[in-house]
Order: sequence, then C-alpha cells, then structure tokens
Amino acid sequence: MIVATDTLIACEAATPGARPLGVVVRPDEGIHTLVPLEGHSVHGTGTLLVSDDGASVNIYGVGQDSDMVRVLTTRGPGTQGGALSASLDCRAYIRIGERWIRDELTIVPVQEQLYSRFGGLLETDVRREKRVLAVGLGSGGSPAVAHLVQSGVMQFDLIDPDRLEIGNIMRHVLGVSDVGRFKTKAMAEFLRNKNPCALVRTWEQPIGWDSIDLLRSLVKESDVVLGGTDNRLSKVILNRICVEESKTLILGTAFRRAYGGQVLRIRPGKSLCYQCFLQTVPEQAKDQEIASAEQAERIAYSDRPVPVEPGLSLDIAPLSHMVAKLALMELLRGTQTTLASLYEDFVAPLYIWTNRREPDTDYAQMEPLGFDIDGMHVMRWYGAAIPRNPGCPVCGDFIAELSREHHVAASSEDLQFFGASSVG
Ligand SMILES: [Zn+2]
Repeated sequence: MIVATDTLIACEAATPGARPLGVVVRPDEGIHTLVPLEGHSVHGTGTLLVSDDGASVNIYGVGQDSDMVRVLTTRGPGTQGGALSASLDCRAYIRIGERWIRDELTIVPVQEQLYSRFGGLLETDVRREKRVLAVGLGSGGSPAVAHLVQSGVMQFDLIDPDRLEIGNIMRHVLGVSDVGRFKTKAMAEFLRNKNPCALVRTWEQPIGWDSIDLLRSLVKESDVVLGGTDNRLSKVILNRICVEESKTLILGTAFRRAYGGQVLRIRPGKSLCYQCFLQTVPEQAKDQEIASAEQAERIAYSDRPVPVEPGLSLDIAPLSHMVAKLALMELLRGTQTTLASLYEDFVAPLYIWTNRREPDTDYAQMEPLGFDIDGMHVMRWYGAAIPRNPGCPVCGDFIAELSREHHVAASSEDLQFFGASSVG
C-alpha cells in the first residue's frame, strides 16, 4: 500500500508536471509513505506526476531512475488552484524489478481530520496564525513544543546549537536514530510528522551577545517565547529582548536531579521579569538541574567540581506540560476560548512543582502527601506571587529608584546618559 497525505497531493497538484518526493519504506508492513523530500528522513525517492490528461501519461517514461513509487494525479475540469477535490484522480504504482505495478493508494485526510476530535474543546484554528519561538530544545523544551503542535500550533522557530547525544535520549522526545543530528532539524521533522502543514524554521546558533540581532528579529515575529536553555546568560539576554519587544516569555527550569522545578511567566509590563526574579529570590534562581558535562563545567567556577545530575524524564514532564499550557493560554489570550476559565486560575508569575522531598532543600520537611489537602506537598503546583522590582534595570525605572533611594534628583543629562525617559 502507498500512503500520502491530502496536503502533500493538494500542494503538489497546483500545477502540472513531475515532482520528486521522498519515500519512507516499511517492507515488513507492506507500506510505502510519501513525504516531501526536504525536511524528512527518507529511504528512497518517488515521483508525483500531475497531469490534466492522465490517460496519455506513460508511467515508465517519467520521473527518476531511482524511483520506488510513482503517483499519477489527473486533474479534472473542476480543479482550481491545486485544491484537492473529487475531481482529482490519483493512481499509485510501485516498481517491482523493471515493471511498474498498480498499488493501492491511501490518501490521509489531514486537513479535515487531524484536529477533528478537538471539536468544542480547543479552538485549533486560532493558532494557525500564531508563531512560537522556542529557544533550547532539551528535555524540557522539546516536549513543550511537541505539546503545542498537538494543540494546533502551526508555526515554530527553533533555536538550539546542540546535536542530539545518546545521553539525551531517555529525556527527550527524539530517538536513537536521531543521535548526531541537530536537535532543531530532528525536532522540525518530528513536528512535521505530527502536522505536515506545520511551518518550522531552525537556527543552530548559541544564545549569546553575538546572536542578539537574530534573536530580536525572531522575538518580534513571535507571539510567545519559550526559554528552555540551561544557562543564566541566555535567560538574561532572552528576558531583556522579550521585555523590550513586549513579548511574553515562559522560562522552565528543573531543580537539581529534577526533584522539582519552576516555571516563570514573564508578561512585560504586567509581571516581574527574570532580572527582578534574580534580584528578589536569588536562591530560587540558583537551584537548577545539572544535566550535561558542559553545563557542570560552566557552573563549576570554583575548584569544587560540580557533578552531572540529570533527572528523570518523568520528573521533567510536569514542567514542560506547564510551559506548554501557559504558552497556549498566551496564544489564545483575547479570543473567545473554551479554556477561558484558566485565566482565573493561572494568575501567578511563578509556578513551583516538587516531585519528591529532596534532602537539604527548602522542600525536605514538607508533610508527606497522604490524604492532606492543606499545606505544601509533592506532586502539586503552587503559584507564587512575586512583585516586580520597581528599580529593575530591565523592566523597571532604575534611575527613578536610584534617585529615590539616595534622595537625589537625577539631572536631565543623567537621564539622557542612562536612556531613561522620566523620573517618577
Ligand atoms: Zn524586571
């Protein structure tokens, strides 16, 4: 059997001609799946022939020598602009030796049925126009992005400089066959495999002062930004740009060995920012998971080595789930959504989750979960109200606060120098 999506056929059927496609072969299951040649791992090539007069096409005389599959699509008189309609007649052929044999063709109705079971539950159409920027595609970022494509988000920009290593696999949505690939490229393929209509762009660039221009242009185009990087500098940079461009940033962080974690939602002008967070609760910001040797080295600025202590995927899952949920709420904000009641629930800027009562932490002495509904326990979300820092150098009025603290009035030259517009 040969399988192709209606979106692939419809897209390619816009104009007559022969187009190369990729083929994913599963010989033991008797299935050949046609996919676009670019952005997919393929086993071989095939050709899609689009003709207005299929009867005159010689299936032996078109396509590439290496073809394993050929599909002939005949456009009827009612076909306009490549839209797939009943007037498209599709026939598939498979090569056996030197002969081309007609085979059964299944066209998967992606457009109609991919999100059909969400009816009345989620407005998948709303998110067609929305764009998500995901910075960092590790064990937290990758499942968050996966949740979003499964919720109907169609446009993604992915940034991560790393290639997938075998040590990542048990904490990642990608698998062993992706080891060695850029996380961005493999993740883009994962997303397109979930929704062939997903538009995914990728950048394999580390986040640092050098990448600010790129980052700013991507932040500007995005509707929400997910920060899943493991170092403070990248978060500081991302935070500054998101505040300046007034875009919501959601930062997920797992604590040491993922005994828990936190999700910080930064809504510029409406909540604290990451810089406020660092200044207000520095201890909270310090406790982060050490998941890689590189990260351990970065943190071990003293002569004391820092052990690599990654957590379980199971313990990171609640964090990526929360990141995705907050992102989805951000994308649906201002619309008539069936999820509207959630805006009353998720009002805090910071959410904390613990998987276990980890010794030597603030959470070691929590009461066991038992049957108690009061107090703080494992396996529950807690929203924390942390106010903005009015003197925050990123989101606050730093000069005004400084003048207030020192009981001095800033001169207009001072304001000009610091780029501030007013003193409150
Ligand atoms: Zn701030």
